[in-house]
Amino acid sequence: MSEVRTATVLEATPGERFHTVYAEAELPLGALPGQWGAFHTDLSNPLRPGQTLRRAWSFAELEGERRFRLFVATVGPSTRWLAAQGAGVTLRFTGPWGSRFKLDDGQGPAAFFAAGSGISPLGAMVDACLARGRQVRLCWETAEPSMQARIDGWRAAGVEVDVGPRLAPTPTAATWWLAGDGPRLDEVNDVLGAPPERVERFYTPQPSAP
Ligand SMILES: Cc1cc2nc3c(=O)[nH]c(=O)nc-3n(C[C@H](O)[C@H](O)[C@H](O)COP(=O)(O)OP(=O)(O)OC[C@H]3O[C@@H](n4cnc5c(N)ncnc54)[C@H](O)[C@@H]3O)c2cc1C
Repeated sequence: MSEVRTATVLEATPGERFHTVYAEAELPLGALPGQWGAFHTDLSNPLRPGQTLRRAWSFAELEGERRFRLFVATVGPSTRWLAAQGAGVTLRFTGPWGSRFKLDDGQGPAAFFAAGSGISPLGAMVDACLARGRQVRLCWETAEPSMQARIDGWRAAGVEVDVGPRLAPTPTAATWWLAGDGPRLDEVNDVLGAPPERVERFYTPQPSAP
Protein backbone atom coordinates (compact mmCIF):
# COMPACT_ATOMS: atom_id res chain seq x y z
CA MET A 1 0.00 0.00 0.00
CA SER A 2 2.88 2.38 0.65
CA GLU A 3 4.05 1.99 -2.95
CA VAL A 4 3.05 4.95 -5.08
CA ARG A 5 0.14 4.12 -7.37
CA THR A 6 -1.35 6.02 -10.28
CA ALA A 7 -4.83 6.90 -11.51
CA THR A 8 -5.96 8.82 -14.58
CA VAL A 9 -8.49 11.63 -14.20
CA LEU A 10 -11.46 10.80 -16.43
CA GLU A 11 -13.60 13.78 -15.50
CA ALA A 12 -13.12 16.84 -13.26
CA THR A 13 -16.21 18.75 -12.15
CA PRO A 14 -15.66 22.12 -10.50
CA GLY A 15 -18.13 23.51 -7.99
CA GLU A 16 -18.27 26.70 -5.98
CA ARG A 17 -16.81 25.10 -2.83
CA PHE A 18 -16.49 21.42 -3.71
CA HIS A 19 -14.60 19.79 -6.56
CA THR A 20 -15.33 16.29 -7.87
CA VAL A 21 -12.77 14.09 -9.59
CA TYR A 22 -13.72 10.85 -11.34
CA ALA A 23 -10.64 8.69 -11.91
CA GLU A 24 -9.48 5.23 -12.88
CA ALA A 25 -6.61 3.55 -11.06
CA GLU A 26 -4.06 1.70 -13.15
CA LEU A 27 -4.45 -1.41 -10.97
CA PRO A 28 -7.41 -2.71 -8.92
CA LEU A 29 -7.91 -0.39 -5.98
CA GLY A 30 -8.86 -2.91 -3.29
CA ALA A 31 -10.55 -0.14 -1.27
CA LEU A 32 -13.39 -0.58 1.21
CA PRO A 33 -16.02 2.14 1.77
CA GLY A 34 -14.60 4.57 4.35
CA GLN A 35 -10.98 4.21 3.21
CA TRP A 36 -8.81 6.98 1.74
CA GLY A 37 -5.73 7.61 -0.36
CA ALA A 38 -2.73 9.83 0.42
CA PHE A 39 -2.55 11.90 -2.77
CA HIS A 40 0.67 13.60 -3.85
CA THR A 41 0.54 17.10 -5.27
CA ASP A 42 3.32 18.80 -7.28
CA LEU A 43 3.62 21.52 -4.62
CA SER A 44 6.65 21.65 -2.38
CA ASN A 45 5.97 21.13 1.30
CA PRO A 46 7.15 24.22 3.20
CA LEU A 47 7.50 22.19 6.41
CA ARG A 48 9.49 19.34 4.81
CA PRO A 49 12.04 20.65 2.33
CA GLY A 50 12.52 18.33 -0.62
CA GLN A 51 9.07 16.75 -0.19
CA THR A 52 5.80 17.52 -1.94
CA LEU A 53 2.50 18.25 -0.18
CA ARG A 54 0.31 15.18 0.33
CA ARG A 55 -3.28 15.09 1.46
CA ALA A 56 -5.74 12.43 2.60
CA TRP A 57 -8.82 12.24 0.38
CA SER A 58 -11.47 9.60 0.91
CA PHE A 59 -12.81 7.40 -1.85
CA ALA A 60 -16.20 9.07 -2.21
CA GLU A 61 -17.62 6.52 -4.61
CA LEU A 62 -16.23 3.15 -5.64
CA GLU A 63 -17.17 1.76 -9.04
CA GLY A 64 -15.95 -1.67 -10.16
CA GLU A 65 -12.39 -2.58 -9.23
CA ARG A 66 -10.55 0.53 -10.40
CA ARG A 67 -12.81 3.58 -10.69
CA PHE A 68 -13.45 6.05 -7.88
CA ARG A 69 -14.57 9.59 -7.17
CA LEU A 70 -12.98 12.17 -4.89
CA PHE A 71 -15.14 14.92 -3.41
CA VAL A 72 -12.96 17.70 -2.10
CA ALA A 73 -13.67 21.04 -0.42
CA THR A 74 -11.41 23.64 -2.08
CA VAL A 75 -9.93 25.31 0.97
CA GLY A 76 -6.16 25.54 0.59
CA PRO A 77 -3.12 24.88 -1.60
CA SER A 78 -3.51 21.13 -2.19
CA THR A 79 -7.19 21.26 -2.92
CA ARG A 80 -6.75 24.20 -5.31
CA TRP A 81 -3.98 22.19 -7.00
CA LEU A 82 -6.38 19.23 -7.36
CA ALA A 83 -9.09 21.50 -8.78
CA ALA A 84 -6.66 22.53 -11.54
CA GLN A 85 -6.10 18.92 -12.72
CA GLY A 86 -8.24 18.12 -15.76
CA ALA A 87 -9.12 14.95 -17.66
CA GLY A 88 -6.08 12.93 -18.75
CA VAL A 89 -3.87 13.99 -15.82
CA THR A 90 -2.16 11.23 -13.84
CA LEU A 91 -2.71 11.35 -10.06
CA ARG A 92 -0.19 9.72 -7.71
CA PHE A 93 -1.25 8.27 -4.38
CA THR A 94 -0.61 5.60 -1.78
CA GLY A 95 -3.29 3.53 -0.12
CA PRO A 96 -6.00 2.58 0.42
CA TRP A 97 -5.46 3.53 4.05
CA GLY A 98 -7.72 3.36 7.08
CA SER A 99 -8.93 0.13 8.63
CA ARG A 100 -10.59 1.58 11.74
CA PHE A 101 -13.45 3.55 10.15
CA LYS A 102 -15.59 0.94 8.40
CA LEU A 103 -19.05 -0.57 8.20
CA ASP A 104 -19.95 -3.36 10.57
CA ASP A 105 -21.24 -6.71 9.33
CA GLY A 106 -24.72 -6.08 10.75
CA GLN A 107 -27.91 -5.84 8.75
CA GLY A 108 -29.69 -3.37 11.05
CA PRO A 109 -30.45 0.26 10.22
CA ALA A 110 -27.41 2.45 9.51
CA ALA A 111 -27.29 6.24 9.95
CA PHE A 112 -24.67 8.76 8.84
CA PHE A 113 -23.87 12.35 9.81
CA ALA A 114 -21.60 14.20 7.36
CA ALA A 115 -20.24 17.68 7.98
CA GLY A 116 -19.28 19.20 4.59
CA SER A 117 -16.77 17.01 2.75
CA GLY A 118 -17.43 14.24 5.31
CA ILE A 119 -19.99 13.09 2.76
CA SER A 120 -17.06 11.49 0.86
CA PRO A 121 -16.50 8.31 2.89
CA LEU A 122 -20.08 8.27 4.15
CA GLY A 123 -21.48 8.37 0.59
CA ALA A 124 -19.48 5.25 -0.28
CA MET A 125 -20.79 3.63 2.91
CA VAL A 126 -24.38 4.58 2.03
CA ASP A 127 -23.94 2.87 -1.36
CA ALA A 128 -22.57 -0.26 0.33
CA CYS A 129 -25.50 -0.38 2.79
CA LEU A 130 -28.00 -0.06 -0.05
CA ALA A 131 -26.28 -2.90 -1.92
CA ARG A 132 -26.79 -5.05 1.20
CA GLY A 133 -30.43 -4.03 1.58
CA ARG A 134 -29.85 -2.10 4.83
CA GLN A 135 -32.17 0.68 5.91
CA VAL A 136 -30.25 3.99 5.71
CA ARG A 137 -30.57 7.50 7.07
CA LEU A 138 -28.21 10.29 5.94
CA CYS A 139 -27.80 13.75 7.46
CA TRP A 140 -25.51 15.98 5.38
CA GLU A 141 -24.75 19.31 6.98
CA THR A 142 -23.72 21.63 4.18
CA ALA A 143 -24.46 25.13 2.96
CA GLU A 144 -23.92 24.04 -0.65
CA PRO A 145 -25.53 20.72 -1.55
CA SER A 146 -23.58 19.56 -4.60
CA MET A 147 -24.18 16.11 -6.08
CA GLN A 148 -27.93 16.65 -6.37
CA ALA A 149 -28.28 13.68 -8.75
CA ARG A 150 -26.67 11.42 -6.16
CA ILE A 151 -28.98 12.71 -3.41
CA ASP A 152 -32.00 12.16 -5.67
CA GLY A 153 -30.78 8.62 -6.41
CA TRP A 154 -30.39 7.84 -2.70
CA ARG A 155 -33.88 9.19 -1.97
CA ALA A 156 -35.33 7.12 -4.83
CA ALA A 157 -33.60 4.06 -3.33
CA GLY A 158 -35.37 4.68 -0.01
CA VAL A 159 -32.67 6.55 1.94
CA GLU A 160 -34.06 9.08 4.40
CA VAL A 161 -31.92 12.13 3.49
CA ASP A 162 -31.73 15.44 5.38
CA VAL A 163 -29.58 18.16 3.81
CA GLY A 164 -29.07 21.63 5.24
CA PRO A 165 -26.69 24.10 6.81
CA ARG A 166 -27.48 23.21 10.42
CA LEU A 167 -28.94 19.83 11.36
CA ALA A 168 -29.67 18.39 14.77
CA PRO A 169 -29.85 14.60 14.45
CA THR A 170 -31.13 12.73 17.48
CA PRO A 171 -30.31 9.16 18.54
CA THR A 172 -32.28 6.39 16.88
CA ALA A 173 -32.10 2.61 16.95
CA ALA A 174 -29.68 2.85 14.01
CA THR A 175 -25.89 2.52 14.22
CA TRP A 176 -24.33 5.96 13.57
CA TRP A 177 -21.15 6.91 11.69
CA LEU A 178 -19.88 10.52 11.52
CA ALA A 179 -17.26 12.23 9.31
CA GLY A 180 -15.95 15.72 8.53
CA ASP A 181 -15.05 18.79 10.60
CA GLY A 182 -13.77 17.49 13.97
CA PRO A 183 -15.23 20.02 16.44
CA ARG A 184 -18.63 19.90 14.75
CA LEU A 185 -18.62 16.11 14.95
CA ASP A 186 -17.86 16.32 18.65
CA GLU A 187 -20.85 18.62 19.21
CA VAL A 188 -23.20 16.32 17.30
CA ASN A 189 -21.76 13.17 18.83
CA ASP A 190 -22.37 14.50 22.33
CA VAL A 191 -25.99 13.73 21.45
CA LEU A 192 -25.55 10.64 19.25
CA GLY A 193 -22.91 8.84 21.34
CA ALA A 194 -21.10 6.90 18.58
CA PRO A 195 -17.83 5.21 19.73
CA PRO A 196 -14.50 6.67 18.46
CA GLU A 197 -14.05 4.05 15.72
CA ARG A 198 -17.22 5.33 14.04
CA VAL A 199 -16.08 8.97 13.99
CA GLU A 200 -13.67 10.16 11.24
CA ARG A 201 -12.24 13.64 11.90
CA PHE A 202 -10.90 15.29 8.76
CA TYR A 203 -9.52 18.56 10.17
CA THR A 204 -9.77 21.15 12.92
CA PRO A 205 -10.47 24.66 11.64
CA GLN A 206 -7.62 27.13 12.13
CA PRO A 207 -8.58 30.30 14.02
CA SER A 208 -8.84 33.12 11.48
CA ALA A 209 -6.15 35.78 11.55
CA PRO A 210 -7.07 38.90 13.60
C1 LIG B 1 -8.78 10.39 6.83
C2 LIG B 1 -9.06 11.72 6.15
C3 LIG B 1 -9.83 11.76 5.01
C4 LIG B 1 -10.10 12.98 4.39
N1 LIG B 1 -10.92 12.99 3.28
C5 LIG B 1 -11.24 14.19 2.71
C6 LIG B 1 -12.12 14.25 1.59
O1 LIG B 1 -12.59 13.22 1.07
N2 LIG B 1 -12.42 15.48 1.09
C7 LIG B 1 -11.91 16.64 1.63
O2 LIG B 1 -12.26 17.72 1.13
N3 LIG B 1 -11.07 16.60 2.67
C8 LIG B 1 -10.70 15.42 3.20
N4 LIG B 1 -9.82 15.39 4.25
C9 LIG B 1 -9.12 16.65 4.63
C10 LIG B 1 -7.90 16.82 3.70
O3 LIG B 1 -6.93 15.85 3.98
C11 LIG B 1 -7.19 18.20 3.80
O4 LIG B 1 -7.23 18.68 5.10
C12 LIG B 1 -7.83 19.20 2.87
O5 LIG B 1 -7.91 18.65 1.58
C13 LIG B 1 -7.12 20.58 2.86
O6 LIG B 1 -5.88 20.58 2.16
P1 LIG B 1 -5.26 21.93 1.59
O7 LIG B 1 -3.79 21.71 1.40
O8 LIG B 1 -6.04 22.40 0.40
O9 LIG B 1 -5.49 23.01 2.72
P2 LIG B 1 -4.74 23.14 4.14
O10 LIG B 1 -3.75 24.25 4.06
O11 LIG B 1 -4.23 21.79 4.58
O12 LIG B 1 -5.96 23.53 5.07
C14 LIG B 1 -6.47 24.85 5.11
C15 LIG B 1 -7.53 24.94 6.18
O13 LIG B 1 -8.76 24.47 5.60
C16 LIG B 1 -9.55 23.81 6.59
N5 LIG B 1 -9.91 22.49 6.02
C17 LIG B 1 -9.11 21.41 5.82
N6 LIG B 1 -9.81 20.41 5.26
C18 LIG B 1 -11.07 20.89 5.07
C19 LIG B 1 -12.25 20.34 4.52
N7 LIG B 1 -12.31 19.09 4.03
N8 LIG B 1 -13.39 21.12 4.51
C20 LIG B 1 -13.36 22.39 4.98
N9 LIG B 1 -12.26 22.96 5.54
C21 LIG B 1 -11.14 22.22 5.57
C22 LIG B 1 -8.75 23.74 7.86
O14 LIG B 1 -9.19 24.79 8.73
C23 LIG B 1 -7.34 24.02 7.40
O15 LIG B 1 -6.58 24.60 8.40
C24 LIG B 1 -9.54 14.17 4.90
C25 LIG B 1 -8.73 14.13 6.04
C26 LIG B 1 -8.49 12.92 6.66
C27 LIG B 1 -7.62 12.90 7.89
